[in-house]
Amino acid sequence: MLVVAIIAAGGRGERLGAGVPKQWLRLGDRTILERSVGVVDASPRVDEIIAVVPQDLVVLASEHLRRVTKPVQVVSGGPRRQDSVANAFAHVRAEADVVVIHDAARPFVTGDLIDRTITAAVEDGAAIAAILARDTVKHVEQTGDVKDVKYVGSTLARDAIYLAQTPQAFRRNVLQAAVAFGRAGGVGTDEAALAEQAGHRVRLIEGDRRNIKITTPEDLAFARALMGPEDAGLMRVGTGYDLHRLVDHRPLVLGGVTIPFDKGLAGHSDADALSHAVTDAILGAAAVGDIGQHFPDADPQWRGASSLDLLGRAAALVDAAGFRIANVDAVVVAERPTIAPYVARMRQALAAAMRIEAARVSVKGKTGEGIGEIGRGEAIACHAVALVLRAVE
Ligand code: MG
Repeated sequence: MLVVAIIAAGGRGERLGAGVPKQWLRLGDRTILERSVGVVDASPRVDEIIAVVPQDLVVLASEHLRRVTKPVQVVSGGPRRQDSVANAFAHVRAEADVVVIHDAARPFVTGDLIDRTITAAVEDGAAIAAILARDTVKHVEQTGDVKDVKYVGSTLARDAIYLAQTPQAFRRNVLQAAVAFGRAGGVGTDEAALAEQAGHRVRLIEGDRRNIKITTPEDLAFARALMGPEDAGLMRVGTGYDLHRLVDHRPLVLGGVTIPFDKGLAGHSDADALSHAVTDAILGAAAVGDIGQHFPDADPQWRGASSLDLLGRAAALVDAAGFRIANVDAVVVAERPTIAPYVARMRQALAAAMRIEAARVSVKGKTGEGIGEIGRGEAIACHAVALVLRAVE
């Protein structure tokens, strides 16, 4: 079975203002158009894609859709939605069995909803996603002496009211009849309306309340709120590692806490390997360099600096790059001493340096099992991972 998807992106989105068509606005790391097309591209039911956009944006859209894996055509739309879909339909191959139409302005569509709509169209000829009205629906009386003052004409039975979404899927011959009806002067704000008027029965598929259409600035704000950092592609992870030799006549400082012990770590300043590993983890997550680059040993400026102070400066660099630290987890690998009694203070000190809550910082101890340089008590190693988040734009 050959399924062609039409992505309706012909509108100019004047209601959103800003002079940018709504489908070109960014939602996290990608445009709304890329997100909508991406879901359709990932659907195993869809074989080919036709995106219909305003004529002056055909080249730009082609660039935006370079990452699409399926055969994709970008064609120019018309003044109304039905004109745009008719133009796109003219590019649908005669061998196509089903055509599924989806609004570019609905980036939260799911593969499951696309799948169910196509299946229903195969069975019944035409199917649309729709959601049951939750609010009581009032039909407005068209009389009112004062402009903009409206009165209720009647209350409709809510359980019989469904609000249409996309996808809307049709067997090719059904959509052909709908398009012909439109070309002959019929008017419909969606393809189903034309198909209904052309005499076809349209089946309702339970839609998805997250599948909102982004039309106004409020919709855009709502969409950004709906999207977690994970959806937005704005979670970043970083790793850090450090090892210092254990020597006589040095204090042992780990995570900013001085631990009573007969040896300490060798190195510049306090040689706090745990703070160093955490510093590298947060810098790495934000991809803003490393500890040696920002605070070189050779620079006298940093010679006496405490490692917690350097961690605080690194946290400020991460912040300046637009990220906030979600959490840090670290492991101290030391044969002796046992670090468990100091973990709570280390978490407090590291968190305070990064200006986050201690609940977001974890420190764990491990031994070297008596083998290797750590097991023989010659060194202590520290590992850390950090997760940072960028605010959704
Ligand atoms: Mg170090």
